Amino acid sequence: MSWDEKRVVIMGAARQGTALARYLAEKGAQVTITDAQPAEKLALARESLAGLPIRWALGGHPLELLDETDLLCLSGGVPLTIPFVKEAIWRGIPLSNDSQVFMEAAPCKVVGITGSAGKTTTTTLVGRIALQAERKGHYRKVYIGGNIGLPLISLVDEMTADDLAVVEFSSFQLELMTNAPQVAAVLNISPNHLDRHKSMTAYIDAKKRIVAHQQPEDIAVLGWEDAEVRSWAEKAPGKVHYFGHQIPTGELGSFVRDQAVWVRTVEGESQVLPVSEIALRGEHNLLNVTAACAVGAALGLPMQVMHAGIAGFGGVEHRLEFVRHWGGADWYNDSKATSPGMAVTAMQAFSERLVVLVGGRDKALPWGPFVTQAIKQADHVIAFGEAAGLVAAAIRAVVPEGEQPFQLQVCPGLADAVATAAACVQPGHVVLLAPGGTSFDEFSDYEARGRQFKVLVQQLPVEE
Ligand code: ADP
Repeated sequence: MSWDEKRVVIMGAARQGTALARYLAEKGAQVTITDAQPAEKLALARESLAGLPIRWALGGHPLELLDETDLLCLSGGVPLTIPFVKEAIWRGIPLSNDSQVFMEAAPCKVVGITGSAGKTTTTTLVGRIALQAERKGHYRKVYIGGNIGLPLISLVDEMTADDLAVVEFSSFQLELMTNAPQVAAVLNISPNHLDRHKSMTAYIDAKKRIVAHQQPEDIAVLGWEDAEVRSWAEKAPGKVHYFGHQIPTGELGSFVRDQAVWVRTVEGESQVLPVSEIALRGEHNLLNVTAACAVGAALGLPMQVMHAGIAGFGGVEHRLEFVRHWGGADWYNDSKATSPGMAVTAMQAFSERLVVLVGGRDKALPWGPFVTQAIKQADHVIAFGEAAGLVAAAIRAVVPEGEQPFQLQVCPGLADAVATAAACVQPGHVVLLAPGGTSFDEFSDYEARGRQFKVLVQQLPVEE
């Protein structure tokens, strides 16, 4: 596609927006970046693009910009419902985003990974497998990015047909997609991000694009255990492979049998590795491993390459991350669990009795599943932050005060929650930060919360 003289407006001057602006400006497009934040807050972004002929419209999105716009590119997180975007749609201005521009420009095979939970872990696993494949000469170079790491648009010019790009896509990025990766993995769909996607249907439709726009020779890798995702097979124009604890006989993909992970390809069944060699905790991570193996098999990679990529991988920071042994207990950081459902998943990864730190900022999702799980597994529930009261109320709604099978304590913030956990922990416990809410009541993001948790735990005094 020729960008020469094309008038492109990019909404959002964060990582994705600035990477796209650089790419398009270098290709000869007339680029304008607009952001709701004022100029003084965006000094770094402006500096990073100094020297390029880019116009800035900051502190709001003036509608006049649309008078001279051929294409509007939205950064992740910009809703399609804000007036500027609605006006653009009304005027018939085409919409795009950095992933879409990347997909159009990528000269190599692309693996796309999406879903409600497990994207980063699975993308990292597939990335590790792909890097092993690169070492063995299957690819000239492997690129890993997208929603995680570098926006790949900034590297697309150096990519060749002999490369592989492994890309994590958020639902936000999928919303505008009109072409799809050659291998598209969809892990699961749960009611997350409902604040943005006004209804579940819109949320699901946004994600479906990754499969619906595939070509007949492409492969969709679908989670068999998720009824919604499984049903997308009907709409897939390409081939369909599955992953799960079990997949039906005759279907290609990856599954678990006799305490090992297997793949089934047209050539037959092969064992990838025994479950005992997987360092990741939890059934959900076993599923992520099968997803990664199904992708590896769809790419035609050998078992040894997959084995080497998976074995010994202990997980991504802030996802069931082991922090320290203290007070006779193992302390884990799962700050990334930002919905009650994810907190439940994190808890299910342990067979030990739990001290759970839960709270943060409520996302208007039901806390009932968390309470049910806590009743089964927790000796102590320590509710902290803005949502502490809500969590406590949800617990009392199920089991009245005095009848709870665990001790409930309410703390204003994370620091008090850690101190409270340290005071009540018993040998053999697992202390788990699985907030179930976002971090924005106390922190800039879940990573800042996870880092602070680790600092607080590391600072607990050396035991006598
Ligand atoms: P994402 O990138 O989609 O947010 P991550 O790999 O970062 O996913 O994992 C985030 C959290 O989601 C984990 O800490 C865990 O609680 C939960 N999770 C991970 N994988 C799965 C899965 N396959 N099914 C359900 N929950 C999962």
